[in-house]
Amino acid sequence: MAPILGCIADDYTGATDLANMLVRGGLRTVQLLGVPESGDGIPGETLDVEAVVIALKSRTVPVSDAVTQSCAALEWLRLAGARQFLFKYCSTFDSTDAGNIGPVTEALMQALETDFTIACPAFPETGRTIFNGHLFVGDQLLSDSPMRDHPLTPMTDSNLVDVLARQMTRPVGLVQYATIDAGVDAIRDAFAELRAEGVAVAIVDAVSDAQLHRIGRALAGLPLVTGGSGIAIGLPETYRRAGLLTPGSGADTVPAISGPGLVLSGSCSTATLAQVDAFAAGHPALRLDPQELAAGSAAVDRAIGWAHEHIGTGPVLVHAGDAPDRVRSVQQTLGRDRAGMLVEQALARIAVAMVGDGVRRLVVAGGETSGAVVGALGIRGLRIGRQIDPGVPSTVTIGEPGLALALKSGNFGGPDFFAKALTRMG
Ligand code: ADP
Repeated sequence: MAPILGCIADDYTGATDLANMLVRGGLRTVQLLGVPESGDGIPGETLDVEAVVIALKSRTVPVSDAVTQSCAALEWLRLAGARQFLFKYCSTFDSTDAGNIGPVTEALMQALETDFTIACPAFPETGRTIFNGHLFVGDQLLSDSPMRDHPLTPMTDSNLVDVLARQMTRPVGLVQYATIDAGVDAIRDAFAELRAEGVAVAIVDAVSDAQLHRIGRALAGLPLVTGGSGIAIGLPETYRRAGLLTPGSGADTVPAISGPGLVLSGSCSTATLAQVDAFAAGHPALRLDPQELAAGSAAVDRAIGWAHEHIGTGPVLVHAGDAPDRVRSVQQTLGRDRAGMLVEQALARIAVAMVGDGVRRLVVAGGETSGAVVGALGIRGLRIGRQIDPGVPSTVTIGEPGLALALKSGNFGGPDFFAKALTRMG
């Protein structure tokens, strides 16, 4: 069966967040890491899912690269048979006056030969709401929030109509809160009016999930939708009403994978450090020392030997994260990037060796760390399963060897996350 929805996400963790949301809404979903190439073993028509999310790293790359990557993803999704497309960006609309949200949206519209779409980064569950075209983060305007100091995409204007207009060649309009409250027909009428006026993209107000459900129904038939993960809240119900979903198919059912379990942690976040302590209290755990890693490959070889020795008795943990003062001192000696890279590469090597040794359930903590591990293992796609903790689903790799994976960025998950994730996967 061809997918109904084809999504293009401008970063990896955002893609997982979206995929998790789609599965919660009842769509069987896979996440692909980059645009598949021929020979990747991921032919679209055999995926047998209702949504595909292609994860790109296009948020802050030069505009022309973002456009090229996004159009390649669109082309792949079209060939796979998707009939509606979603360009997913951050719920804080992370972009500069040069882009990439506006130029990518215009390029996708052109490729799809459509003259109208919406832009709605609202995600009320995480405090992102849009009122009269202004984006709020919690109770602060976007331009008063910490996003105003973001190193790559500082957001100093909360008026999304103005922000997007600066990135676009065609006009940007607004569908206001009162219209969203007036119901699905009123929203559709507003889209038609704006379109008749020559507006290419409408910023759409939304402050609640109920409004996102209403907006979702008004999006039926629109070839392209753009927004944050929140805009996906209303789409599954629209497909269900249109009879496009297979009733009763457990969207979060993925094959159970048994086999030895390994936890690799490269995150230094407070939440992860607590998870490491909790897991280490009941399981074998080994700490990697970046200074030893800098001295040569012997430290990694020792860690692999240690893991090999203990893996027979149950899941083991290899971790590198440390308290902020110690991380700072290591960074001063080795340099921040080098220290980070040494740890990421060490954990990636351990992952490859231990999967070769039979590990089939793998938990990775840290966004960059997850990227390094997944890259080293050559993983190109993930089937998205049940949520373990908010924002973190269990996943199963597409292709051989079949691995159960839980990839979590630093601050996610409760204190018992590692043990919980391994149990959920088994
Ligand atoms: P998070 O999701 O918490 O931001 P990441 O994996 O994205 O986690 O980033 C953490 C970074 O810190 C990685 O580059 C990792 O290699 C690095 N790192 C981990 N432990 C240490 C350490 N002890 N000293 C210095 N850098 C470290």
